[in-house]
Amino acid sequence: MNLIEKNTFRELANDLTRDEFTCIFGPCSAESRDQVLEAASTIAKAFPNALFRSGIWKPRTRPGAFEGIGAEGLSWLIEVKELYGLEPITEVATPAHVEAILRSNIKYVWVGARTTVNPFSVQELAEALRGSDVTVFVKNPVNPDVSLWIGAIERMQRAALKEVKAIHRGFYTHESSAFRNAPRWELVIDLKTALPELKVICDASHISGHPDLIPGVAQKAVDLDYQGLMIESHPRPKEALSDAIQQITPKELIHLMSGLIFRKAETADSEILGRLTELRDRVDGADDAILQSLIARMKLVSQIGEHKRKHNMTIFQLQRWEEVLRRTTESAQASGLSVDFVKRLWEVIHNESIRLQYDIFNRSSESSWIIQDKKSQ
Ligand code: PEP
Ligand code: MN
Repeated sequence: MNLIEKNTFRELANDLTRDEFTCIFGPCSAESRDQVLEAASTIAKAFPNALFRSGIWKPRTRPGAFEGIGAEGLSWLIEVKELYGLEPITEVATPAHVEAILRSNIKYVWVGARTTVNPFSVQELAEALRGSDVTVFVKNPVNPDVSLWIGAIERMQRAALKEVKAIHRGFYTHESSAFRNAPRWELVIDLKTALPELKVICDASHISGHPDLIPGVAQKAVDLDYQGLMIESHPRPKEALSDAIQQITPKELIHLMSGLIFRKAETADSEILGRLTELRDRVDGADDAILQSLIARMKLVSQIGEHKRKHNMTIFQLQRWEEVLRRTTESAQASGLSVDFVKRLWEVIHNESIRLQYDIFNRSSESSWIIQDKKSQ
């Protein structure tokens, strides 16, 4: 069947296998048998391939909040599997949780963001899971540290499990943001670059923190070729005992998934490919021009560095930096480029210029490639 003919993502998601595109839907927490079964029955009808999520043990910031129903809830997840055929998935944070899910024959677990930050905890979980036929999803750590995330994934990979995948749930940031957790999509690109075979699922609920933002985040994840979505869905979100603000009803979930547009990563159409190649060639040319401009700029910067050193002037002069920023951001604005992007880009360029001049100030002999190049001119 040609999957591309399917025009809504919901139809398509049902044709894709659970491995090709993993839908992880269900409430933040299991609260009661009725709540779990009510959510599961609607989700199962619309998404028979989905994994049914439900937190049994909940990591909460402050003691006294609802910390999950505990092991008793596992039997409800088993019922979900028996009654509706959905495979359940829950969070494990301690070896005792792992033992409980293994006893209940649950085949899917995730490691939460607060656990991924701690290599001791991750290693303990990996040992408890070792050799089991469980698939583990490792959420990103709360802090934007890709190495820590990779480390946790590697610990799980070495435990010879069924499969290890990643979940992108966004990062804590001190800056104010519309999102509950800043997505920092570029960090997932770093992760995929380090581990190209790894499948990454987007937890659009914990990134968004609000139902209004979930469709945009989910669509972006699909556009970036993620291999699945996690979305929290509760029959009565307002009554939810955890994450009440961000949960959506199963009906809203169906509506949301039906609205997503599926785009493909590859095409066999030679006309489309030809045009793409032509445009990419031109992008390569533009990249070359950027690089040549950077080389020219850094050569000038190194001459300025020498000049300042000779005449005992400071490397950094605030007024000059403000002038550079003003000129570049004004041109950006006039041309329609993002001012924020140009500002961030020039901060990087300026930092490198300072580093280069610092090198020149602290070098006993003239040896950098830029100086050598200048001499040979
Ligand atoms: C959750 O999925 O309900 C959860 C607690 O997630 P995180 O670890 O991403 O905060
Ligand atoms: Mn939650």
